[in-house]
Amino acid sequence: MRVLVIGSGAREHALITALLADPGVDAVACAPGNAGIAAAVPVHAVDVASGDAVVALARELAADLVVVGPEVPLVLGVADAVRDAGIACFGPSAAAARIEGSKAFAKDVMSAAGVRTAHSEVVDTPAVLDAALNRFGPTWVVKDDGLAAGKGVVVTADRRAARDHAAELLELGHPVLLESFLSGPEVSLFCLVDGETVVPLLPAQDHKRVGDGDTGPNTGGMGAYTPLPWLPEGMVTRIVDEVVAPVAAEMARRGCPFSGLLYAGLAVDAEGPAVIEFNCRFGDPETQAVLALLDSPIGAALHATATGTLDALPPLQWKDGSAVTVVVAAENYPGRPRTGDVITGADGPGVLHAGTARNADGALVSAGGRVLGVVGVGDDLAAARADAYDVLSRVSLPGSHFRSDIGLAATEGRISIP
Ligand code: AMP
Repeated sequence: MRVLVIGSGAREHALITALLADPGVDAVACAPGNAGIAAAVPVHAVDVASGDAVVALARELAADLVVVGPEVPLVLGVADAVRDAGIACFGPSAAAARIEGSKAFAKDVMSAAGVRTAHSEVVDTPAVLDAALNRFGPTWVVKDDGLAAGKGVVVTADRRAARDHAAELLELGHPVLLESFLSGPEVSLFCLVDGETVVPLLPAQDHKRVGDGDTGPNTGGMGAYTPLPWLPEGMVTRIVDEVVAPVAAEMARRGCPFSGLLYAGLAVDAEGPAVIEFNCRFGDPETQAVLALLDSPIGAALHATATGTLDALPPLQWKDGSAVTVVVAAENYPGRPRTGDVITGADGPGVLHAGTARNADGALVSAGGRVLGVVGVGDDLAAARADAYDVLSRVSLPGSHFRSDIGLAATEGRISIP
């Protein structure tokens, strides 16, 4: 099998690493990739937001499977174009990608499927903002009602901060989504979905805030760990039965069946799981940890999903133990990151590349906000944490920062379900 992976993050580097370890995979290529991916497989500088460009590349490479990593090409219909060209594609149609691209669509599907989620209201004019804020909070949850890469959300007990963020979004002409606050620890559950067949991967937890102790602004994700020692037995099955399967069935009923990776972002409390959001693709940085424990051939799993034969896939096998990924971010991230700094020590095992490039002298330099993801594994979460931070200690990037507490609360038994 020849596989073309679309994307340029540490998530794609992790997918490619797993594909290269699958004996059923003969060749892997990537577009556009990054410096770390380029050291592993051929990379191609094409416009991955263009279905025509991706199809032309897939044909040139005689790809049997195209795996689309990021949400933007999916929302733009790249998977539709690949499938229309007769090539198997891992990734949902543009119609199904609305589960991530349109919060209104996601809420509508959840409501029809009877899935528990936050109560919400859309505000599109400043005149009604104050009255709407009065109906929520504290704590307030204020979101940009569109694709915002996880950074458009403010969760705050400070009414003025909530109001300022909402007013700023409205000024930019973006409708604002106010949501009721869901308490309880968060779970990311990734599921392979082909129509109505759902195969869950290991549950993981992301760390969204930039600073230790969940302080500072939200980011695209600063680190993750898997599995979750505090998650009650049977909760993954419950999430599949109560959340993912009903949503998949409702999407199929509406004529936009989901094919690819359906990512349920949940809060878990005494009543059970409640949906914070859906994503239509693998999440970053959880993927880097989850795939480190996968003990089944990933090429076969992605191909079965893409071709609607997931029901015939042997059960996925997982390595014992835990995995942790820690993101190394550029100075000033999640604000406008400083780029062009020279990186050293980033070619060893366990180091996945995100925003990296080669400068004119051929040196490895930072080229984005999240620059690297280091992955550690171990017999338990504490050992996996120790391994990840050991890998990280060999990497250097001037001005960079990372969280030192990825998975720490779980190792200390500080996570509980309210
Ligand atoms: P989103 O972009 O919707 O994934 O939100 C980013 C982060 O904001 C989530 O991972 C949560 O940590 C937090 N968040 C979003 N919505 C809610 C909510 N209704 N209740 C509590 N936390 C939320």
